[in-house]
Amino acid sequence: MTASSPRSIAPEVDRELIAALDATVDRARGSALYRERLTAVRIRTLDDLHGLPLTTRADLQAAGVHGTRAVPLERVCHYGESSGTSGVTNTVWLTADDLARSASAIRAAHPDVFGPGRIVLNRFPFMAAPAHLIQLIAGDGGGVAIPAGNINWDVPFPRALELVERTGAQVIAGLPLEPVVLGEIARARGLDPATLGVDTLFLGGAPLPPALQRRLARTWGARVIELYGSTETMLLGTSCAAGTVHLDTSLAYCEVPGRAGTAEGHLVVTTLGIEGSPLVRFETGDVVRLVPTCTCGDGRPGVIVLGRTAEVLELGGRPLYPSEVIDAAAEVADALDSSVFFVVILPDRVLVRVETDLAPAAAERALPGRLGVAVEVERVPRGMLLDVEMLSRSPHVYKPIVLSDWRRPGRRILTVAEGMIEWPRPTWAEGRRWLARTLRTAARRRKLQRSLDRSVAR
Ligand SMILES: [Zn+2]
Repeated sequence: MTASSPRSIAPEVDRELIAALDATVDRARGSALYRERLTAVRIRTLDDLHGLPLTTRADLQAAGVHGTRAVPLERVCHYGESSGTSGVTNTVWLTADDLARSASAIRAAHPDVFGPGRIVLNRFPFMAAPAHLIQLIAGDGGGVAIPAGNINWDVPFPRALELVERTGAQVIAGLPLEPVVLGEIARARGLDPATLGVDTLFLGGAPLPPALQRRLARTWGARVIELYGSTETMLLGTSCAAGTVHLDTSLAYCEVPGRAGTAEGHLVVTTLGIEGSPLVRFETGDVVRLVPTCTCGDGRPGVIVLGRTAEVLELGGRPLYPSEVIDAAAEVADALDSSVFFVVILPDRVLVRVETDLAPAAAERALPGRLGVAVEVERVPRGMLLDVEMLSRSPHVYKPIVLSDWRRPGRRILTVAEGMIEWPRPTWAEGRRWLARTLRTAARRRKLQRSLDRSVAR
């Protein structure tokens, strides 16, 4: 790693790397995005690469749906798009080898997690590439995958928990909120998540700050592994036992151009392991902090992912990443023995709503100092922020049918829609509790809105 600007994150600059970068540029010319941009460009030194213009998300969008594709459609097996928070959609076309490279890199980094006989509950959403990587890992001998994507009505949260119990799954793979929700459902059923036998939580796709990692590790008695990557770049790295995300230098060449002397900067990626939609100096928009040497002994460069520049919050006159705010909130929630919290950013303060049965005050004093702004901690009863009762009564989804035999016992259906989905009828008691929570939330919203209007009027 060099300290000069732009800094490059590579173990050493060798001939192999230069050849790989040159091959990426050559492949990239196959796409409309790079055809003219990279005409006659050859990479013979790292400076040749560093002299090329950055590729922005706007560039990808402007290139159009097929503009990022560098191989004939016949060679592609997977299409993906990012649903950016800014509403911009970027496209990515991947070959079978592209997916296989990311999958085998994950397996190689975590042979103890993904191995024969190990059962993995795959809760990544179907549209997201990690869902498919987990399936590929299993298909290649890295365990038994249960394809149970969330945001999916045929596997609602309670069923996901039941799948873990029934199969004895050791790994839950999914978005960071997944083990929070499953943990609450377990708790509501009188189960201690730590006794379920899950030893690994493999999480990615959203901020996973340290305090939340520690809380989840303790609640589940499991190790937390962070998966880092993006739809455009595919896998960039996974975290080690020390919690550092180690970049996979065989799949991507990473630079952190930034101010000299700072350890933070924007991550710029040139893909080495993608044929379908190769990227040259792609500005990920992620800000990372470099970890010079990791205690785990892994020599690959380490980063802590702070978040997207576009999502930076201006608080108390200084910029804060959502992950920092969520980290502080998770710490307060943990001090109140809870994993369930919700943060509301208001003009004059940060409101941290925490589901808890406890009433200590120490945690509330610790928080304002960390964030540098006024913080209000609001304790709310269990079920107010994450209504486990209603989650457990999610609709029943069936294979679509166009015929119903009313002479037989069972469901008497009159429409195609009724055949596909059945909403549960809550009991009176459940309905009352749901109504009470809804009214209480509405009242809180009105009160906050009024104080917001007053502060705006002032
Ligand atoms: Zn490490």
